[in-house]
Amino acid sequence: MSLSVRESSGVWVWAEHHRGEVNRVSLGLLVKARELCQKLGGGETTAVLAGADSSKLASELIDYGADKVYVADDRSFSLFDTERCASFMTALVDSHHPEIVLWGGINLGRETAARAAARLDTGLIAHCIDLDIEDIDGKHQLVAVVAGWGGNLTLKIICPERRPQMATVKPGIFPPPQAEKRTGEVIPVKAEDKSSRLDVIQVAEEKDETSSLEQADTVIAVGWGMNSMGGFTAAEELAEVLGGMVGGTRPALDAGWISEDKMIGQSGKTASPQLLITLGVSGAAQFATTVTGSGFIISVDKNPNAPIFEMSDIGIVGDLQEVLPLLIEKIREIKKKG
Ligand SMILES: Cc1cc2nc3c(=O)[nH]c(=O)nc-3n(C[C@H](O)[C@H](O)[C@H](O)COP(=O)(O)OP(=O)(O)OC[C@H]3O[C@@H](n4cnc5c(N)ncnc54)[C@H](O)[C@@H]3O)c2cc1C
Repeated sequence: MSLSVRESSGVWVWAEHHRGEVNRVSLGLLVKARELCQKLGGGETTAVLAGADSSKLASELIDYGADKVYVADDRSFSLFDTERCASFMTALVDSHHPEIVLWGGINLGRETAARAAARLDTGLIAHCIDLDIEDIDGKHQLVAVVAGWGGNLTLKIICPERRPQMATVKPGIFPPPQAEKRTGEVIPVKAEDKSSRLDVIQVAEEKDETSSLEQADTVIAVGWGMNSMGGFTAAEELAEVLGGMVGGTRPALDAGWISEDKMIGQSGKTASPQLLITLGVSGAAQFATTVTGSGFIISVDKNPNAPIFEMSDIGIVGDLQEVLPLLIEKIREIKKKG
């Protein structure tokens, strides 16, 4: 049952973990959750953990901002049984009434969130690229930003009547900073309802490299402008010199330069490297909104009005045919000097 606006408080984060590690998207969400609590004028930041051996992860969640961690350290949670996870979260939310529940838009989170939202009879704002609290009609509301309408617009979405307000956020949007040692409360909970209509018969993992674009420190993003270079070979050279990884835009995928798991954007991966170099990428919203977590952005484009320059720390207006060989040569020289 959804709750009235007045009865709920606090911000919760579904803490997704795999092989004994909490996913970075959940850690970043905890930091964001604390910020949202402050803007709401109070309330606790709470993390929820479910699964075998999950209790040993609780202290890390506290260090990243949780005041409280509910833990169902229960072997009967089988991997990827999102129905079971949704039943558990629904029961917990029903008895504690959080104001907001945040989920990583990843493996378990995006599907569990949808199932839980349906059971709780509330809304779910998916693939968010920013979250904030705004005063709307005298009420503090979660305002979630998504890229929409063909990607040429960013939209603000609210869930004014139902509680909890729920949102999924793509990885890399809120990169977690360094954790600080904190204290908090760890509360063991029982997952009473062990029934599930799902039967997980096989888990086939993607190759490691699939996720590495999201974890790479240096990413070279190629766009349609690379066509002027007759392809993306020079971008691979730049990536090699810098020890980075090549990703790209939708046209780069369509041109066959990158594989599907290397496409950055609304329909692809989020990238939040320390260094992002874009080559002939115009900066359409479907691309741009998913690289905002990058530390430093250098962009090369011949169009001085390309939107990519608005988000770049260094913008080089020029033809790739001239700029790129020079860039590679200069970096090689600097590296040689040590
Ligand atoms: C529902 C939907 C979802 C989408 N999802 C995605 C997504 O996930 N990811 C994605 O990338 N796109 C996505 N798109 C497409 C997106 O709208 C853009 O079309 C795309 O990002 C543009 O890619 P681009 O920057 O490579 O190409 P363009 O926009 O064509 O830009 C090419 C750039 O190269 C520059 N250039 C050309 N020649 C040179 C040269 N010689 N030297 C220097 N610069 C040069 C141009 O000035 C231009 O700025 C989606 C669209 C829709 C409708």
